[in-house]
Amino acid sequence: MHGERRREYLEAIGIDLWVSRAAPAPEAAPEPAAPPRAEPVGELSERWEALRAEVLHCTRCPLHLTRTQGVLGVGPKRCDWLVIGEAPGAEEDRRGEPFVGAAGQLLDAMLRAIGLDRTRNVYIANVLKSRPPGNRDPKPEEVAACLPYLVRQIALLRPKIMLAVGRIAAQNLLGTDAPLGRLRGRVHYFGELNTPLVVTYHPAYLLRTPGDKRKAWEDLKFARNLYQQLTQGAVTDGHRT
Ligand code: SF4
Repeated sequence: MHGERRREYLEAIGIDLWVSRAAPAPEAAPEPAAPPRAEPVGELSERWEALRAEVLHCTRCPLHLTRTQGVLGVGPKRCDWLVIGEAPGAEEDRRGEPFVGAAGQLLDAMLRAIGLDRTRNVYIANVLKSRPPGNRDPKPEEVAACLPYLVRQIALLRPKIMLAVGRIAAQNLLGTDAPLGRLRGRVHYFGELNTPLVVTYHPAYLLRTPGDKRKAWEDLKFARNLYQQLTQGAVTDGHRT
């Protein structure tokens, strides 16, 4: 990315200096499952549309009683990056798209700072597809009911890396109650495909706590460096180089 443009993006997310830090080497990954066979483009589109229709009208948990619509996600049908947040908010519930409004704009700026564009090379979704009333935290049974949709999304997308934004998303995806600070700065693995997963702050939190934007920027660079290792490096002795 051109230096001047990158500076503009960093300023947009409230960071005015480039601080270089190498990504720690990822921990040993579990053996990934064999990748599923490639299906024709038409079949992929049909599977996405079927999933979207299912989520739109899903009644698997009581959240369907209070939401406007189920919100599957937005982005290309297949891409390397998957960003996962907590759940739709009021605006997302109304518009049917995740991460709109001020938090969405900040997320877009964060992604642009590492060369990603939500319309081209990143898919954005939430753990929960329906809005909890009053934006309360998701209940475990709601997450359990909804998580299979995310698993199906991952099977369709086949991302090379996941970015969990916020404590709720990270804890539910990783099955832990560890604080966000302990989950940042290392590589986790999600699901049967052992997709590498990096944790950072939720943009809505960063809007309330701008002092942590620099830490979020460190996380983004960590994720970007990891992605470069995953796509350009070799895998030896269970460690990615
Ligand atoms: S949160 Fe998930 S499981 Fe619950 S109604 Fe919405 S789409 Fe269905």
